[in-house]
Amino acid sequence: MSRALVLAEPGVLILETRPLPQPAAGEVRVRIAHGGICGSDLHYFLHGGFGKVRMRGPMVLGHEIAGRVDAVGPGVDGARIGQAVAVNPSLACGGCAECRAGAPRFCTDMRFMGSAMRNPPVEGGFRDHVVCTAAQAVPFAGVDLAEAALAEPLAVCLHAVRQAGDLAGKRVLITGFGPIGALCLLAARRAGAAEVIVTDVADAPLALAVRLGSAAALNTRDPAALAGVKSGRGQVDVTLECAGHPAAIADAIEATAPRGTLVQVGMLGAETTVPLTHVVTRELTYRGTFRFDAEFGPAVDLIARRVIDVRPLISARFGLNQAADAFALAQDKGRAMKVLLDL
Ligand code: ZN
Repeated sequence: MSRALVLAEPGVLILETRPLPQPAAGEVRVRIAHGGICGSDLHYFLHGGFGKVRMRGPMVLGHEIAGRVDAVGPGVDGARIGQAVAVNPSLACGGCAECRAGAPRFCTDMRFMGSAMRNPPVEGGFRDHVVCTAAQAVPFAGVDLAEAALAEPLAVCLHAVRQAGDLAGKRVLITGFGPIGALCLLAARRAGAAEVIVTDVADAPLALAVRLGSAAALNTRDPAALAGVKSGRGQVDVTLECAGHPAAIADAIEATAPRGTLVQVGMLGAETTVPLTHVVTRELTYRGTFRFDAEFGPAVDLIARRVIDVRPLISARFGLNQAADAFALAQDKGRAMKVLLDL
């Protein structure tokens, strides 16, 4: 038998017992060991969804998952049984125009785990056993499998940093320092940024930012905190906006110097008013970033080799039967960065 953490309705998590799923041809079954709680999981948990994406019935959340292969379907090498893997939660169709154009993240028939974008939703990974294609189970050669649960958000950040162009020698601002901001800091430093400045509205994440190598960590609850960074026509070359909050977007635009690039990483819940004047007069490039494609494998490898060390981001771990506590803590940005479920 196999346990699954079901979000029955917003705020109500139920642990169900289900029959063991069996892998079909070309598939593997992964005994999930660790799952990270993401901001989108919290949106489903608190509000039943975000934007136009709403849960239509009970669903299993979770798309930041790692475990060990414990069964293989026909055509898959049996030597993979026991292998430690990070699970890529995205499965594109491979045949639509976006897939054929090399941008499967925009697949018109995307199956993304723990998402209600499709009806019925694709089941997420907060359960004992997940069946996926053999290619989605990416081998993890690191020491601690818990770290592999951060491969998915790191892939998001590697993709976001790529949107910003060459960061070598650049001065970078990151607005909003949750797990995505933190992984963007590590990715930006890895990409050669000369200096990374971080903002947030809570002190605990800013203290972590300093430990992780930010040149300055500024609390924007103080309206004057960013005065220096915004002075003149803006003092940074690249901004990664990870808060998804109107005030942070305004800061990001005002801080970015002429010909700079602003990457909108944070998701916006509703229509947002932002000061676009500087985008015009400074010729800023303001671009979005959405999930990831080829970055998943490199993210797994960077974490496994601890070239990007995600250990300082893991703030707490809970068993599946303590999921309510885990979801409560994950909402508390002053106390938690990445919260993991251990299955
Ligand atoms: Zn497709």
